[in-house]
Parts: sequence; C-alpha cells; structure tokens
Amino acid sequence: MPHRTQRKSDKNPAQLDRQYIWHPFTQMQEWIRTDPIVITSGKGAILTDQWGRKYIDANASIWTNLHGHNHPVINRAIHAQLVKISHSSALGLANEPASYLAADLIQMAKLNRKRPRASDSSKKPPPPRQPELTKVFFSDDGSTAMEVALKLHFEHQRRTTPKITPRYLSLENSYHGDTVGAMSLSHSPLFHQSFRKIRFKVDRIMAPYCYRCPYNQAQAKRTDARSSRQCRWECVQQIKERIETAKRKKQPYTAFVVEPIIQGAAGMIAHPKGWLTKVARLIQKYRMQLIADEVMTGFGRTGPLIASHGEGIQPDFLALAKGMTGGYLPMAATLTTQAVFDSFLGPYDSFRTFFHGHSFTGNQLGSAAALANLKLLQSPRSTQQRKHLEDWLENALDRLWRHPQVGDIRQAGLVAGIELVKKWQTREPFPLKEQAGIRVCQALAKRGVLTRPIGNVIVIMLIYTMTKRQVDTIVAALSESIKEALPL
Ligand code: PMP
Repeated sequence: MPHRTQRKSDKNPAQLDRQYIWHPFTQMQEWIRTDPIVITSGKGAILTDQWGRKYIDANASIWTNLHGHNHPVINRAIHAQLVKISHSSALGLANEPASYLAADLIQMAKLNRKRPRASDSSKKPPPPRQPELTKVFFSDDGSTAMEVALKLHFEHQRRTTPKITPRYLSLENSYHGDTVGAMSLSHSPLFHQSFRKIRFKVDRIMAPYCYRCPYNQAQAKRTDARSSRQCRWECVQQIKERIETAKRKKQPYTAFVVEPIIQGAAGMIAHPKGWLTKVARLIQKYRMQLIADEVMTGFGRTGPLIASHGEGIQPDFLALAKGMTGGYLPMAATLTTQAVFDSFLGPYDSFRTFFHGHSFTGNQLGSAAALANLKLLQSPRSTQQRKHLEDWLENALDRLWRHPQVGDIRQAGLVAGIELVKKWQTREPFPLKEQAGIRVCQALAKRGVLTRPIGNVIVIMLIYTMTKRQVDTIVAALSESIKEALPL
C-alpha cells in the first residue's frame, strides 16, 4: 500500500522512527534493531513513554533542561507569546521579547568585580583583565553560537591588527559543536577525526585532565595521586610555552577557546581550581582574546550563572545555548564587548557589516521562554535549591567509590562524570568496542533512569527542581547498573 494512504495509527511511532529517522551520534545499524523508548510527555524531572513507563531524566535531555519539563511558568510565557506572534525576522525588524532578553542576558553576564582595596598589601597578582560584555548576537544552538564567536574574533582581529593572521588555540578532546567552524575548534578524536580534511587548522594543547595527567601517574590511586598542592601546573606551563613559541615564530595565537570549569563532551573533565585564572592571566599577558564556550556550563550548571565567573573571569566572547530557554526551544546567543562591536561599524559602503545570521535569529517564542527561564533561575528559591542539589549529589556520589570499576568521579556543581575503568588500581580504560558506558546506561534505563554515556564516562546532569530522593535514586540505580553491566 502506498504510504500516502496509510493512516497514522497503522504503525506505531517506534516503527516509523526506525523506518525514517536518522538519529544524531547513533550507530543506526544497532538502532534499527532496538525497540526505542518513545517519549510522549514529561513533568518535572520525569519523562513518560508511550506505554506509561516513567523515567528520571538524568541527563536533563542532553544537558538542556533546567527547571523540569512542562513547567507552568515557562508554558505560560510561551503561550502568551504564541497568541501574539511566534516569529518575525530579525533582519530589518526588532521584536519585544528578544530586546528584553538581550538586556537581561547582559545583566546576567555582568561580572561582580572585586576592586583591590588601597590598604590591600598582599602580593597577590592583580585579577586578569575583565572586559565588559555589552552586545548580544542571537543564533539557534551551541554550534552556531560558537561559529559566531569564532567569526567575530576573526574579523575583529583582522580589522584591528591587519598584519597578524588570527589563530586559535584550544584544548585536547575539546568539543565545541558540529558545524565546520565549531568542529575545527574542537579536538575530539572520535567525533572529528574523519572530517579532518574539511576542518581549518587549530592547534591543540594539553587539557587539565588530572585523572589521566602524564605528570600525575606516579601512583595510580583512587583519587588524584598528587594533590593540587603538589601539582606544578605543568599543563599551564605547556600553554605558556606554546604561546611563547608561536609568538617567537611571528605566528602568534590571537584567541584561546575553552569550556570553562568542566569540559563536557570530552568526558566531563572538571578542571582543577585556579586553572582558568592562570590561563586567563596568560591570555591577558599575550594580548589574546578568550572565547568561553558556556553552551553546557552556562545558566548555573556548575554553580554560578556563568561558570567563568566562579573564578572571577570574564571572557571576550561568551557562547550560551542549551539551557537558555530552560531546555524548551532551540535558541543561543554570543555575547561580546563594545570594542568587538565597534570594529564592525562604518558607512554602508565600507561593508564592515557582520555578514552572518540565521532565519530564526531572535525568535519570539524562544525569547519568551528564555525570559521566563531567567526569572526562575534568578529566584532565591532556585538558587537555594541548586545549592542543596550540589551537596546531595556530592554525598550520593561518594558511595560509588566502592566499585572497583569506578576510576574517577568528577563533579562541578550539578554536573558529574563517573569514569569507568577495568580496575581502579590500573586505570586501564575499557576498549570502546566493549561499550561499557552504553551497557551501564541500558541497565540504568531498565531501572527507570535515563542518561547517555560519553565513552566510558557516565554523565549525570541534574534538573534544578529534582528532589533529594530523585538524586539518591539516580545514584543507587547507577550503583546497581555498574554491578549488573560490568560483572567482576
Ligand atoms: N559546545 C559545547 C560545550 C557543547 O556541549 C555542545 C553540545 N553538546 C555544543 C557546543 C554544541 O551545541 P549544539 O548541539 O546545541 O549545537
């Protein structure tokens, strides 16, 4: 029977999915043999499938959801906007919610600067440069927010110092998105290797991955073999040397690109305290610009609303996405400074315009959701709850150390990565083909907890309205799943 005459009910959504949909980051040969979970509704931290089964959304719907699904405040905001207008173009037109949102984002991204007191005689070095972010460029998702940052930097640099070719430096294993520019800034061997010929060249430098730090292997212990007191910051030294070498060769780096505080898709690599400050000092010293990819870390995931602010650092470019609309609609923003903005000004025929944009830039529905999200996020209730959640998660995770297959537990605020290894004493990783992470997540799903691994790292990303009980349930289910999926 030709498809057009089929009625909707002839096939269930799982069958249609297998027949027609190509899923992201998914080996479809395996997918088409499985019976996918079909989500039909959500409330708070709970997702419900077509058979009425309930699951805790333990990766916040791929790191996007903040206050839970079907939140009445965000629903109302979207609905109120929906009955006015859903979308009109930002090319040549302004709109209400996008204007309010831009102002709120600038406000949210203001860094509380601590001025040194005149009486302060301590020998502490001054805080690194803290540029003020004054302009917002809207786009659709994390990748486009990073494309905007990289293109703005490129043009700004070319215009202000025409003799120097813009060059970017970024961390090993970093992930900044899947469009070609964002991919070029990234160094994920698994995701980006096959596209190397279409990526432009961006140099890679050692990341502060303490658990697998080559300078930190003296004794493989359950936690870092050396405490940060003993660490000599060799990783920062490497960055310094690389920047200096490039400068000597007269090919200086002009931008440093980083996911501050914790690198997500690299495997939830939480950076040691102070690393960002040290790197920011180098960036200041060598007159580079800092591009902060806060696509995952923004909006309170790691504690502060902007993760960089946790170390008193303000970037020159701040890319925000995922949680911006509370995880409801695709929308993103790149915030930058007046100096960058000004370098694009000129008479029409100077063609200094930033020739970049997307059809849905400044979308009204997304903006309305984002405004409601910001209000919720900045309420004392949410702020308090996030503090509790951070403690509850830390306490619960502590129980996982008893598993010999748990090599490392990394937490930054409401985000955690649990790195599974063959044996904690040796830190030997499971070969990827053994799908250790996937097997554990499958066992978790059977227990009503949904998340996705990054290789051998199990990700837990809390929704800000979760209860202590839900946090405990997630971790207890993970403990059982490790035992089931990775028998000794
Ligand atoms: N940057 C970071 C840090 C991310 O985690 C992601 C997505 N996981 C992206 C960029 C790309 O975002 P998107 O998938 O929305 O394009």
